[in-house]
Amino acid sequence: MISRPRSSAAFAHAKALIPGGVNSPARAFGAVGGEPLFISRAHGAHLHDLDGNSYIDLIGSWGPMILGHGHPKVQAAIAEALARGTSYGAPTEAESRLAQLVIDAVPSIEMVRFVSSGTEAAMSAIRLARGHTGREKIIKFAGCYHGHVDSLLVAAGSAATTLGVPTSPGITRANAADTIVLPFNGCQELQDAFKAAGDSIACVMVEPVAGNMGLVMPTPEFRRLLRDLTRRHGALLVYDEVMTGFRLALGGAQELLGDEPDVTALGKIIGGGLPMAAYGGSREVMSKVMPAGPVFQAGTLSGNPLAMAAGISTLEELKATNPYPRLEALGKRLEDGLRAVCLEKRVPFTLNRCGSMWTLFFTPGPVTDYESAKTSDTKKFGRFFWDMMDRGVYLPCSQFEAAFNSVLHDEALIDRVISAAGESLA
Ligand SMILES: *Cc1c(COP(=O)(O)O)cnc(C)c1O
Repeated sequence: MISRPRSSAAFAHAKALIPGGVNSPARAFGAVGGEPLFISRAHGAHLHDLDGNSYIDLIGSWGPMILGHGHPKVQAAIAEALARGTSYGAPTEAESRLAQLVIDAVPSIEMVRFVSSGTEAAMSAIRLARGHTGREKIIKFAGCYHGHVDSLLVAAGSAATTLGVPTSPGITRANAADTIVLPFNGCQELQDAFKAAGDSIACVMVEPVAGNMGLVMPTPEFRRLLRDLTRRHGALLVYDEVMTGFRLALGGAQELLGDEPDVTALGKIIGGGLPMAAYGGSREVMSKVMPAGPVFQAGTLSGNPLAMAAGISTLEELKATNPYPRLEALGKRLEDGLRAVCLEKRVPFTLNRCGSMWTLFFTPGPVTDYESAKTSDTKKFGRFFWDMMDRGVYLPCSQFEAAFNSVLHDEALIDRVISAAGESLA
C-alpha cells in the first residue's frame, strides 16, 4: 500500500474532533482496513487526495455525480443562484420548475415534496403510508438500506420472517417491532407475510434494484408479487429510488422495468451534488401531506435555492442529452472486461450490473439477496480495493456497495479500470 502521509495526519486530527473522524460511517474504510483518503478536490471523473494523488472516481459521491464533478452548467446554475442569496424560508419558482421536471420524468409521480436527505425522504414516505392507510406495520428487505430512520434500520437477516431486530443501539424494540424484514427476492416469504398480517401492513418499502448490499437485481416474479399483494391488501408500494432515480433511466428503475409504485423516494442525483431529496406519488396520496392534508412533514432548508439550481440543471442536462444508452454501453464494456480478467485469473466471482451501477462480488454466486451477497470473500475484496487504489482507481470501500460510472467515464478510462483490475488480481 503506498503511503499517504497527509491523509493520515488529517485523519488523526479529525478523529479527535469527529466520531471516527468521519461524518458518515461508510467513509471510514472500516470494511477494507486502512485509513480513508482525505480529498482536496474533484474534477470530471477524478478525485484528488491531499497527498497529490489522483484517482478514477467510481463512487461519484455514492451516486449523485452522474454528470461528473464540476459540470459547467451545474456550476453556473449554482453560482447564479448563490448571487441571489442562499436561503429564504419562503417559496420560490425554482421549486415548481424542479417539481415539473421530476413529475415529467418519473412515471408514477404526480406531486412531489422536496426534503434535504434520502433518509428524510424514506422516513417521510413511511409516515405518509401509515397516515394514508391508518396501519402501522411495514415490510422491508434484508440488505436494503433506506437511510438511518429508526424503523428502517432493521436488517434482521437471520429471523427472516419474524419481527425485526434493531441494527443499532438507540432504536427501541417497539420501533423495530412494526418492521417486518424479509429476504430480497423472497416470493414465498412475501406471500406468507401478507397472509399472516396483510390487513395491518401500511407499505412495502423496497429498493427496486438493490444497491446497498452490492447490486442485486429483482426477479420479475418478485416485482409482480410486490405490486399484486400490496394492491390486493390495500398497502402502498414504496420504491426507494434514492440511488436508482435518474441513474438507471431518467425515470429511474420504475421506467426501466415498467413498474408502478404508489410512492417513490428520490435523492442523490436529484440534488446534483447538493444535499437534497424528495418523495412523491399520486395526487391522491400526496394530498395527504401537510398543509394540503394531515400528515405532518416540514424542513427549514427544504427546497433550498442552491439545491434547486443544482437539481434543475442536472435533470435538464440528463433530459437534453439522454446519456443512458451510452452509460449502458460503457457499463457493458466494463462488465465484459472485468469478466474476462476474472476468468483469466481464475477468480471466483459474480458481476451484477444494471446500466452504470455495478458490483464485482468475490463469490461464485449467484448473488440474489443479502444471504448470497454475504458469501463473498470480503478479505479478498479488501486486498483488491487497496491494489486498485494504488493503481489510481477509487472503488466503494465495501464489498456490499454499488460502484457508479458517470457520463465522463469514457472508453479510455473504462479500459484503464479493466487493466488495473487485471494487475490487482494477478
Ligand atoms: C443513500 C440512500 C438513502 C439515504 O440517503 P441519505 O441522503 O444518505 O440520507 C436511502 N435509500 C437509498 C436506497 C440510498 O441509496
